[in-house]
Amino acid sequence: MKHMKAVDVVIAGGGWTGLAMARELTARTSLSVLVLERGPDRKFADYAANMDEVDYGIRKRMMQNIAEETITHRHALRDVAAPVRQYGSILPGTGVGGSGEHWTGYAERHTPDDFYLATALREKWGASRLPEDLSVQDYPLSYEDLEPYYWRVEQMMGVGGKAGNLNGKIVQGGNPFEGTRSHEFPNPPHKKTYPMALFEQASRELGYHPYTAAAATLTETYTNPDGITRGACQYCGYCMLYGCMVGAKSQPTNTLMPVLRRKSTFTMRANSWVKRVIHRDGNAEGVVYMDEKGEEVMQPAAMVVLASFTPNNARLLLLSKIGEPYDPMTGKGTVGKNFSHTVGGGGTSLAFSKPLNGFMFAGGQSMRLSDFNGFRGIPADSGVLRGGISNTAGGNLRPIGSFGRVPQGETSRNWGSEWKKAAVKYFDKIAMLGVFEMDHLAYKHNYVDLDPTYTDKWGDPLLRITVDWTEHEQRQRAFAAEVAGKIARQAAKISGGRVVGGERGGRASRRYQTAEYATTHVQGGAIMGTAPENSVVNSWLQHWQLPNLWVIGASSFPQNSSSHPTVTSVALTLRAADALIERYVKKPGALA
Ligand SMILES: Cc1cc2nc3c(=O)[nH]c(=O)nc-3n(C[C@H](O)[C@H](O)[C@H](O)COP(=O)(O)OP(=O)(O)OC[C@H]3O[C@@H](n4cnc5c(N)ncnc54)[C@H](O)[C@@H]3O)c2cc1C
Repeated sequence: MKHMKAVDVVIAGGGWTGLAMARELTARTSLSVLVLERGPDRKFADYAANMDEVDYGIRKRMMQNIAEETITHRHALRDVAAPVRQYGSILPGTGVGGSGEHWTGYAERHTPDDFYLATALREKWGASRLPEDLSVQDYPLSYEDLEPYYWRVEQMMGVGGKAGNLNGKIVQGGNPFEGTRSHEFPNPPHKKTYPMALFEQASRELGYHPYTAAAATLTETYTNPDGITRGACQYCGYCMLYGCMVGAKSQPTNTLMPVLRRKSTFTMRANSWVKRVIHRDGNAEGVVYMDEKGEEVMQPAAMVVLASFTPNNARLLLLSKIGEPYDPMTGKGTVGKNFSHTVGGGGTSLAFSKPLNGFMFAGGQSMRLSDFNGFRGIPADSGVLRGGISNTAGGNLRPIGSFGRVPQGETSRNWGSEWKKAAVKYFDKIAMLGVFEMDHLAYKHNYVDLDPTYTDKWGDPLLRITVDWTEHEQRQRAFAAEVAGKIARQAAKISGGRVVGGERGGRASRRYQTAEYATTHVQGGAIMGTAPENSVVNSWLQHWQLPNLWVIGASSFPQNSSSHPTVTSVALTLRAADALIERYVKKPGALA
């Protein structure tokens, strides 16, 4: 095995969280920082001509190569897991910038009660009404602890939006149910498309409080506190699954890498696949990785940071035999527990007689409402414990992927000349309103471990995900479909559009499907908590047993929140960096 010269900090993974950590360390200390990224290096110019839907949208050029490494899935303990051989429910990225390159750009914060959800659920519904196998946990910190870091992330990315709660004062036009913000957004909100304006009017008429989503796709030319200037969004529509051609969508390669590349203490080593964390006597000594030639390399380091996204953070801990794997039968062990995803639902389609020009849009350009988020608006007898955020889903019109949307029941089959005619007729004339993203609660039976059969290209066990939907998620979907239908019918009244489907069934299947894209919002496996008995890392994302190991990203969330995760993941990273720099470096050891 090849041995490299020791560095102060080695970071596994060069996405939003790994690079945010590297930026803090190199800007504020003289520590040498090495990022090992399994995928290729990337630069802004790579995206100059990327409006190739076949390459990026269909063949998923930016994603992890699932022929080399994938996950296996089973619904329950009694099942045998099968490997996921088709891009499906999540789309993890690879290469410098990670999924932050091809993300959509919704940039919202968690709400305050997300941070004490276990307590809030007990207080709201009473312990006896909660499912027995619920394993939701409180975070070991509060929204208020994270607020200053949220603000830093929003400035770094240049998030556009409208505050709804500014220093405790409710502001018209923003989300009145959000946590208190110390500042207005760095940029104004996006322009409103026709479906957004319709959603806004319809939901206002129903007494709800719509607001423009917070988005990390720049609404104006903007210079962030690091002096990085980027131009405004051109509404070309190629955001999700694509890198931004003009640099308006905040991505690690256009916000963090330009700062990092100037630092002599920073090294990016792409095509370097971390396989294990090497540790002895409660101390991480570095990592072993495969270099681009397929040679095994030992990289010694004084500190190790895992920033390889939710599934890989848990997998690396398990492969490295760090901590006790979670056992769902006994409830013992912590590594792998509380895996959660997102519950999608609702969404009612309206057909219009005029084109909507849905090809002009930006990631995160949408109208949202939080009137049914958290505990709000949930009827006491519905059996729903938590709701979610409702959204317009107009736009996102692409020549291939968007072709073929026809109203339910319009044609007898979804192929042939009758269907083609209908597909042409309705192209760009259907919008979906009231699509919900709802809290996916954590359950004892949803967890990750190492697969006993299937391996990656190096021969290491794949990560096995055991997850299924429960009755609760079905109830959430039924509730969402009801609300979405109400909004769509009101919008139809205003616009003369025709409600053409989706009202009853919701979108998703009853069983968890790896073939259906949900979101790439997966959480857990290395959760944060108050003690080693209930978590893998403390509130500073420092490993309980190995104080010089930090595990960052949404793997630390005890459960999902309906709010998108990235701003929270990066805010938690900045807070962890503060602790590492201000406290750990001065006095190494476990942080209280
Ligand atoms: C299509 C899509 C749309 C999304 N839209 C949104 C959105 O609108 N809003 C939102 O908040 N979030 C969104 N997300 C999620 C968002 O992208 C993630 O939350 C965010 O990128 C997570 O950052 P991270 O640093 O934890 O992981 P990543 O950005 O995934 O970075 C992890 C990096 O680690 C590398 N890596 C993994 N394993 C190894 C290894 N063994 N050795 C070395 N390197 C390794 C990977 O290659 C990757 O580059 C979206 C994701 C996708 C895929």
